[in-house]
Amino acid sequence: MASPRIIIVGSGIMGACFAYAAAGRGCRPLVISGDAPDSGHTATATSWAWINASSANDHAYFQLRYQSLQRWQGWMQQLDGLHYSAQASYCWDLSPNDIRTTAQQLTEWGYPCSILSAASLISHLPCLRDIPVAALYLPLEGAVEPVSTAQLLLKASGAETIKAHSHGLLGSADKITGVMTDQGEFSADEVILATGNGTPRLLDTIGVSFSMASTYGLLVRSKPIPTMLKGLITAPKFHLRQQPDGRLLVGGTFGAYDPAKGTGHLASDAEAQLDLVREAFDMPAPLEVERFTLGYRPIPEGGMPKIGRLTLDSGKLLKGLYLAVMHSGFSNGAGVAEAAMDELLDGEASDLLSPFQAN
Ligand SMILES: Cc1cc2nc3c(=O)[nH]c(=O)nc-3n(C[C@H](O)[C@H](O)[C@H](O)COP(=O)(O)OP(=O)(O)OC[C@H]3O[C@@H](n4cnc5c(N)ncnc54)[C@H](O)[C@@H]3O)c2cc1C
Repeated sequence: MASPRIIIVGSGIMGACFAYAAAGRGCRPLVISGDAPDSGHTATATSWAWINASSANDHAYFQLRYQSLQRWQGWMQQLDGLHYSAQASYCWDLSPNDIRTTAQQLTEWGYPCSILSAASLISHLPCLRDIPVAALYLPLEGAVEPVSTAQLLLKASGAETIKAHSHGLLGSADKITGVMTDQGEFSADEVILATGNGTPRLLDTIGVSFSMASTYGLLVRSKPIPTMLKGLITAPKFHLRQQPDGRLLVGGTFGAYDPAKGTGHLASDAEAQLDLVREAFDMPAPLEVERFTLGYRPIPEGGMPKIGRLTLDSGKLLKGLYLAVMHSGFSNGAGVAEAAMDELLDGEASDLLSPFQAN
């Protein structure tokens, strides 16, 4: 049977994962995107890009994330140049009691993890000065470099890419047949929206309301310093990893910053974020801000990913349209894209995705 014509709108990590998963099944989609993956307008370019399953406390969500992590590992074996740039997570942004409960839960779910005492943590992180009583150690987790990873997957997919803004979805009340862009009309059997925070606007063009609860996230990049850290750290007040070029990538408290309230001062917040790292570590060299970004995490209302077809008021599914909107696009991307291809190309409903219905 001939492959359906697929248009993917969006070339962030979700669009890139979809393109790569489709190519793995002999299907070459058309990717239409307003911004390239390196544009600071995308969540992808402003992401910390941690791939983990340990931060999910809901079992269905854990399963999706763990399968996705395993997919990433498979893709890393298949594709030259795709690899973790930091590996193994050390997490102590939980109380010692919560660390114990989380380790027990993850172990019951079959996820490799252990608890490190202060003494063993220091052998993993010799530069650490501010040592917690215990930390969760998650050896399978890691981070990728966000922009180069999205670019690599897109290139490897062989997908044709077009830079264009999509103004609206085309079709009838029960089937989408294409998109209207500033380069004209493009038609397809399936349109995949990998449009992150741009999704509500596109769905509005067919009269569908889609609510988001997105939050801002400040990420500070330091000037390069000698290697001090191979893994990822989530401490109570900061998230930290070091890129292969020596730059530290420091994130802050989740969801704290909101420019709509007009009270932030980003440059001093960025300095304050580095101060936390200066206090917590014996630094191998002075730490200076090189630049910072303010990203916007695409979080659907309710916090969980929204994936799949939309259900119309009549109870029928809207054909020809498939959504994938989520925070944790890095953790989830590979697993979501492969399971979505089971649904789109093989017609198999995915048990992994069914808890995350689009509406
Ligand atoms: C500070 C921060 C830290 C994060 N840390 C992590 C982390 O550690 N781990 C993790 O898994 N996730 C993390 N995330 C979340 C993750 O980055 C996002 O979930 C992911 O990047 C979303 O990817 P996406 O492709 O859906 O959206 P985006 O990267 O925003 O891409 C959307 C694409 O759609 C295109 N588009 C939108 N509307 C239109 C239109 N009308 N016409 C044409 N094109 C359109 C855009 O041009 C773009 O190409 C973080 C996010 C932030 C901001």
